[in-house]
Amino acid sequence: GLGVGIVGLPNVGKSTTFNALTKAQNAEAQNYPFCTIEPNKAIVPVPDKRLDALAKIVIPDKIQYSTIDFVDIAGLVRGASKGEGLGNQFLSNIREVEMILHMVRCFEDGNITHVEGDVNPLRDIEIIETELIYADISQLEKKIDRLKKQAKTSKEAAASLVVAEELFKHLEELNPVKTFEKIEDDVFVALDKELRFLSNKDVIYGANVDEDSLADGGNKFVEILKEHAASVNADVIMLCAKIEEELVGLEDEEAQEFLTDLGVEESGLEQIIHKAFDKLGLQSYFTAGKVEVRAWTIRKNTKAPQAAAVIHNDFEKGFIKAEVIAYEDFVSLGGEAKCKEAGKLKLEGKDYVVQDGDVMHFRFNV
Ligand code: GDP
Repeated sequence: GLGVGIVGLPNVGKSTTFNALTKAQNAEAQNYPFCTIEPNKAIVPVPDKRLDALAKIVIPDKIQYSTIDFVDIAGLVRGASKGEGLGNQFLSNIREVEMILHMVRCFEDGNITHVEGDVNPLRDIEIIETELIYADISQLEKKIDRLKKQAKTSKEAAASLVVAEELFKHLEELNPVKTFEKIEDDVFVALDKELRFLSNKDVIYGANVDEDSLADGGNKFVEILKEHAASVNADVIMLCAKIEEELVGLEDEEAQEFLTDLGVEESGLEQIIHKAFDKLGLQSYFTAGKVEVRAWTIRKNTKAPQAAAVIHNDFEKGFIKAEVIAYEDFVSLGGEAKCKEAGKLKLEGKDYVVQDGDVMHFRFNV
């Protein structure tokens, strides 16, 4: 799946954040009848002002945004990989997601217990990340046992075993998979594809602060977290989970005012959604008709026929040409007809690499 898993110690604000995401999902739910609603999953619209600009020109009956899945992964505590808390079961839930939103407590509140006694972002991060490494070690151990048997008769398994044992050493020193030196090696890539190492997933740190710190633009905990994140090439997004929950309930204009008062352009939730979308290597192209103006999600560098398949498989099978208008042209010239007149509607073939924001119409044989 394309999902983002939310992890973090207890009482750091995971549920509050997840609730805010669920509200964002429900606000758009009538537009996504194909989505089954699951208790631990939120299918969240990706805000995109370009869709609103297209809609102003086309005046469609409805607008549909791209979506991104968030999965609430509760129960990660010290000792989880040894079966503490909910134990191994939820570690397998993390395995399925493509990246991790690691919520970190950056607020002090005497009424809300911290499971480790005090607020300390680096210690908290280390607890969680060590659990992920332990979980990878235990998976890898089992794999190595299997490979040892297979290596007697298979050269491929023997080659795999060499890399697996090197990785094992790396992990035993409590290094995450993502810093393993053979990360580009085909043999490693195959192992990772099979075992889906937890400590190899991209991470966004969510710095959960109180209302005052949000207004102040941060606090000492956020600074510590940012310094750490920079050293491991990860992103930090500061938010106040409680405020995010309120924000998703407001009308657009009210929410905008609220954010302007805080001196930020986007809510923390929006920043997280956009950052995750980008880190997952995703982008959108648009279709703009009277019935709907809609964003379709594709991987970066997707060619036209495969982009068409996101709408319908038949569009790929019978692909003839794609009519393409760049987003900027569509908006600045004021719609399809004007773009056609100005020579800005291009006919592209099966090798065309779809660009972010392309407004597309597919021609296909049935
Ligand atoms: P989880 O265990 O990580 O899912 O944490 P919760 O989302 O349930 O939050 C734990 C407690 O912290 C709840 O009482 C929340 O209301 C509170 N909380 C969450 N976010 C914030 C915040 O930004 N500021 C303050 N002061 N409290 C928060």
